[in-house]
Amino acid sequence: MKNIYLIGIGLIGGSFAIDLRRKYPKAVLHGISRKDETLQKACDLNLIDQKATLDDLKNADLVVVSIPVDATVKLLPSILDKIAETTLVIDAGSTKEAICKVVENHPRRRNFLACHPIAGTENSGPTAAIPNLYVGKTNIICEVEKTTFKLQEKALEIFSELGMRIRYMDAKSHDKHIAYVSHLSHISSFMLGKTVLEKEKNERDIFDMAGSGFTSTVRLAKSSPAMWTPIFEQNKENVIETLEEYINNLEHFKKLMQQDNFSEIFSEMENANYIKQILNGIK
Ligand code: NAP
Repeated sequence: MKNIYLIGIGLIGGSFAIDLRRKYPKAVLHGISRKDETLQKACDLNLIDQKATLDDLKNADLVVVSIPVDATVKLLPSILDKIAETTLVIDAGSTKEAICKVVENHPRRRNFLACHPIAGTENSGPTAAIPNLYVGKTNIICEVEKTTFKLQEKALEIFSELGMRIRYMDAKSHDKHIAYVSHLSHISSFMLGKTVLEKEKNERDIFDMAGSGFTSTVRLAKSSPAMWTPIFEQNKENVIETLEEYINNLEHFKKLMQQDNFSEIFSEMENANYIKQILNGIK
């Protein structure tokens, strides 16, 4: 692989860059972003070798698209317009239906592989990029049958080099399931952060009393609104459904408290403890 183009060099794109450089030392890494200062930062951090533009994509062997999902929907058709016949384009978007839909009839649809690496942190931008982010993590691939067999093979080889496990899913199921395990967790954390900030106007008290429970539960509230707003917009129906179920559970918990029904509260929490067995081994 000679020329790798990274469109978006934040946490996800930058972390791809670090590991791709290690695994493909002869490849030149080209970066594309909206702002020159972001590209410059990516150069300074040695995430990329060169700044580039969409017009250079005709030289690409691999294009990794890691920009907010609304920008991916807007840009992906033009990216496919500009690539060569042998180029593999992968994305990392946290939603998959809208992204797959926008290119379903594109003449270069077979060059595109829709992916969602289940890996990340609450940090964003080029400085958030870290090595080994993808090691041992699952990469969800959607609509695999729409990508040419040769490019599927190429992608699987790259993901294997990066240490990823693969799971196949249709885009609709991906968006439905991910609404529960990722999108709802983020809303829950954002709103926990909001509730505590509004109640505790004196930030010093929050800081002094924050234990590891609060810190870990509110961690996702540090995530970027520029990345999350378009995710909630694209997955609106599924996210609203998860929110209704979650709010019902919170209401139920409140009612049990009002009724002094602590034996039922005990069993609610005991039932929720089952999550330990499901998540055993996930860091
Ligand atoms: P990020 O750290 O905020 O990086 C995104 C980068 O995209 C920014 O540096 C921004 O650079 C650039 N960008 C924004 N709009 C652009 C456009 N129109 N054209 C070119 N560049 C643009 O976000 P991220 O966490 O890496 O997320 C990237 C993608 O991965 C998203 O689709 C997200 O859903 C997905 N994802 C995220 C996670 C996670 O945990 N964070 C996990 C899995 C998948 P500028 O400063 O130049 O605008």
